[in-house]
Amino acid sequence: MKSSPPFWSRLGQGRHVRRIGSGSPAFTALVLRGRLGPVAVINGGTHGDEYEGPTVLQELAAQIRPDRLQGTLVIIPVLHEAAFFAGTRCHPEDGSNLARVFPGNPRGNHAERVAALFLERVLRHADYYLDLHSGGTAYDLLPWSGYMLTGRAEIDAIQHRMARCFDDYWCWGSHYAPGRTLSAAAAAQVPAIYTESRGAGGVHPADRAALHRGLRHFLVAFGFVRGPTPRLKKPPVRIARHKEEAHLQLHHPAPADGLFIPAVTVGAVLARRSIIGRLHPLGPAPAVTIRAGHRGTLVCLRRQRSVRKGEALATVVALPRR
Ligand SMILES: [Zn+2]
Repeated sequence: MKSSPPFWSRLGQGRHVRRIGSGSPAFTALVLRGRLGPVAVINGGTHGDEYEGPTVLQELAAQIRPDRLQGTLVIIPVLHEAAFFAGTRCHPEDGSNLARVFPGNPRGNHAERVAALFLERVLRHADYYLDLHSGGTAYDLLPWSGYMLTGRAEIDAIQHRMARCFDDYWCWGSHYAPGRTLSAAAAAQVPAIYTESRGAGGVHPADRAALHRGLRHFLVAFGFVRGPTPRLKKPPVRIARHKEEAHLQLHHPAPADGLFIPAVTVGAVLARRSIIGRLHPLGPAPAVTIRAGHRGTLVCLRRQRSVRKGEALATVVALPRR
C-alpha cells in the first residue's frame, strides 16, 4: 500500500514548511526531519472550531530541534482549513464532517477531498498517528485520550501505550467506527490515537499543559527524543462495552428544538435518573427534564444552549474508580 515514497522522504534534516494540495482543498505541514527513524503524523483542526490542537502543535513545532530528533515529525496544526476559517465544526457550505468521510474521495465533496488528500499524501506513510480534538464551541468535555480497537493485538497494545502518554487525561478504548481518521489509520495498519480536550470554544491552560506533557511523553517513550523514561500517572481507563458507547452524538438526544439549561457541570458523578438539565421548547410545549440514562461520570455536556431536536446533550460514562 505504501507504494510511492512520501513527500518528506526527499527533505534533508531540518525544519520545512510544505503546502499539500494545490488550490482548495489544501493544508500546511510543518515537517521536522531528524536522523533516520520512525515517522509520527500529528494533526489538529480535523474539526474547525477546536483550538487546542492547532495551538499546541504550532508551539510544539517551534520547540523541537531537528538536530536532536530521531525520526520525522509531520505536524499539521489545521487539517480542515475551510471549517477552521469559518469557525465551524464542519464545512461551512456543504456541512461535510471530515471525521466521518474517511477514506475520502478525490472527486467527492469538500471534506471527502481533504480526507483523500491527507490519507494518500500523509497518513498512510506514518508509523504513528495522533489526532487532537476537543469539545469545540458547542460542548464542554472531561478530557480524555482514546483509541479504536482494531482487533490486532499488537496494534492495540501500541495504541494503548500511546494514549496512556497523555496521563492528565482519562483513557477510553472504543469499538471500530467507520469514516474517522482512526478508521483510515486502522485500515493502513498505522497505530493511532486521538485526544479530546475541554473545548468550550477556547484553550484551557490545563489542557495546553496536558497536551504538551502528553506529546513530550510520547516523543520520549517512542524514541523520537532522548529523555528520562516518563513516570506516568495512572488515570482511569475504560474499555467500551458496546459499539455506540464512545459515539458522543448519540447520547441523550434533545427531544425537541429549544433552549437547553444544564443543571450540572462536566466531571459530575451522576446516579441513574439524576437531572442533567431542562430543555425548553420555544413554544407552548412544556419543558422537558433531561435525566441520566445510567450512572457514571458526566464526560460531555452541551454548552451551546440553542439545540435542535436530536442533537446530543450529554454523555455519561461509567469510569472505574481511582
Ligand atoms: Zn473533533
